[in-house]
Amino acid sequence: MIKRKLLRVYGIVQGVGFRPYVYRIATSLGLRGFVRNDTLGVEIEIEGDEEKIETFKRRLYSECPPAASIDRLVEEEIDTKGDASFVIYESSSGRERETLISPDLATCPDCLRELFDPGDRRFRYPFINCTNCGPRYTIIEDVPYDRPNTTMRKFEMCPECRAEYENPADRRFHAQPNACPVCGPEVWLVEGNGVKIQVGDPIKAAARFIQEGKIIALKGLGGFHVACDATNDNVVKRLRALKKRGDKPFALMAPDLETVERLCFLSDKERELLTSPKCPILLLEAREEAWKVISRDVAPRNRYIGFMLPYTPLHHLLLRETKRPLVMTSGNLRDESIIKDNDVALEKLSGIADYFLLHNRDIATRIDDSVARVIDGKEILIRRARGYVPAPISLPFTSDKEILALGPMMKSTLCFLRGQRAFLSQYLGDNDIYDNYLYLLEIMERLKKLFGFKPELVVHDLHPDYPTTRLAGEMELPALAVQHHEAHLASVLAEKGLVDDEVLGVAFDGTGYGRDGRIWGGEFFAGKTGNFERIAHIAYFPLPGGEKAIEEPWRIALALMKEVLGEEALETPWAAKLRTNHNLEAVLRLAETERLSPLTSSAGRLFDGVSSLLSIRHRITYEAQAAIELEMAADPEVKDSYEPLFTESEGHLILDVKALVAEVYDDILRGTPVPVIAARFHNWFVSAVLRVADFVRDDRGIEKVVLSGGAFQNRFLLERTINALKENRFKVYFNEKVPINDGGVSLGQAYTAAVLVREGRL
Ligand code: ZN
Ligand code: ZN
Ligand code: FE
Repeated sequence: MIKRKLLRVYGIVQGVGFRPYVYRIATSLGLRGFVRNDTLGVEIEIEGDEEKIETFKRRLYSECPPAASIDRLVEEEIDTKGDASFVIYESSSGRERETLISPDLATCPDCLRELFDPGDRRFRYPFINCTNCGPRYTIIEDVPYDRPNTTMRKFEMCPECRAEYENPADRRFHAQPNACPVCGPEVWLVEGNGVKIQVGDPIKAAARFIQEGKIIALKGLGGFHVACDATNDNVVKRLRALKKRGDKPFALMAPDLETVERLCFLSDKERELLTSPKCPILLLEAREEAWKVISRDVAPRNRYIGFMLPYTPLHHLLLRETKRPLVMTSGNLRDESIIKDNDVALEKLSGIADYFLLHNRDIATRIDDSVARVIDGKEILIRRARGYVPAPISLPFTSDKEILALGPMMKSTLCFLRGQRAFLSQYLGDNDIYDNYLYLLEIMERLKKLFGFKPELVVHDLHPDYPTTRLAGEMELPALAVQHHEAHLASVLAEKGLVDDEVLGVAFDGTGYGRDGRIWGGEFFAGKTGNFERIAHIAYFPLPGGEKAIEEPWRIALALMKEVLGEEALETPWAAKLRTNHNLEAVLRLAETERLSPLTSSAGRLFDGVSSLLSIRHRITYEAQAAIELEMAADPEVKDSYEPLFTESEGHLILDVKALVAEVYDDILRGTPVPVIAARFHNWFVSAVLRVADFVRDDRGIEKVVLSGGAFQNRFLLERTINALKENRFKVYFNEKVPINDGGVSLGQAYTAAVLVREGRL
């Protein structure tokens, strides 16, 4: 029986080769009708034998192109029209916008083969791409995703490219960035002063400069990178000094997987992520041999190396020539956002780069490389940006209101929540820096435009002085403040689709503004999203000098020692070593006034203090350095723990810090090796979590434990906490789709609001 059906396909279905594949399936089954993009997704009208239409629908799912994903298929039977064939129509542009925009995709194997095939017309062409790979989010300026709405608009396709673009059987059918050496973008090389260098092959020339120890700024997919030879100590040191980078590790790009395999330990999951179209920077444990090849200055005192593989044709061409790992760090000035335009790069990076490898495909939005690590066989995101954004997170229910969450201040992201989806922006940096605040405003407008968001509710942090708290106040929308750590935990519940489940939430974090006005960060909550009760926390201790104490962990160490020894803290061997350079007495006096020494329950700050106490790090040059180096020092063989002691106060369990520091100090006096102390300290947190979890299970029957917060980026800590909980038959949840650090907080903020709306409380 002949029927006609209207099928609406929702999901990532534009710019990923979806229509040609629909065309191929339809024509192979002898079905008639049409397919077209609209602002909601893809619309198909299909006519023919009823059974064949069913087969068509099945194959739509089973043969879906690699970069596409179907969220939902809605069908409706309509009158037959008797078309003669199946055709692909131009896009229609309606008013409602719900199409999902694909993240940028790393070069696919087919394009890579052509790139190095001397017989191919795109041999060595640095902008080769197809419907399975290439730029997407970074070139799109409006929807629907068609060439006139991208930065490729200015390149008119040559007849050959046009023929591919129009041929439904071609891999480049409607590949919007389609281009070739005849008609597409090009690269060129300039000196630091902006003067163009005449060379036959700018990429080969750049590779040669890198081999000679020069620093190159190169324009990539989402912005500029600064690159140099990672095996050359001198140039890595020079780059470190020029970028005023302290000891913060550099990310590396390796020519191929084999190179990474030779230098680092790789699990299957890590191999899979490295070679996926998302192509993140992955923090990998370095083999001993790595440091014979890679400059130690790439990641001082770190056991991990951040590696990624080439993800654009330009990278492939460059790394094939250099044949060695390169430092590939964001092209920016310290703490500012990544640079995307040629003129800005020439202006701002001229003091850093010796040469610039530029191109003329404009970047519509800047976006950093994503950073991930694998813990417990799962991907943990540290920075969610290129390759991931703007793919949405699916939620367990449909929200009646559209919500905008502005995130925290550090590592900020925005989150738009609509219907059953949450869209996080790319990583936007710390928005106390004005440049990054402007970036946040820019991306907010961009996402509104691309997705047609019209928020009805704005969510911000509880902190009264954050720039985004003020911004929320200016928006003339109903506003909701969500506590930082409650948002951390809600972000996990959002990801995992948990709504009504009672959980124990553990937030081990740097800092976040608490409901009592103190700085929280070592928190235990019971309950569910929108209804958390703080049941336990790390005992408050002072941060002498506030912000200053974050940069100088020795101040925290001194305050901790004072809790144990009183004034005698000044007489310890540890103090004696510090005394020559630091005014210990003044800081000790500072610690006595709460106005100048805010109280905190932060796990991260406790890590900092103990790191200094163990003389690992007294002063930091990048965020969390003291804690990271304490993690690096911990001996994984050590299983025993300092005893977590709890006292009760105002119905809370207070985790005793003084007793902990006393034990640490005893171990120091006894001459216990630092790696043993560091491990026992880590294990103290694990034991404490287990103790509270047992208590909450007995008390309230809660068996689900949720972990979030920046301190859980620590692999030693997170892995052991997960294992200990699992061994004791708890169900454990932690962030996998959004960063476990502050980069995921905006999701938790938005989700909290959505839950309150759902419950009629907002
Ligand atoms: Zn491709
Ligand atoms: Zn062409
Ligand atoms: Fe946080």
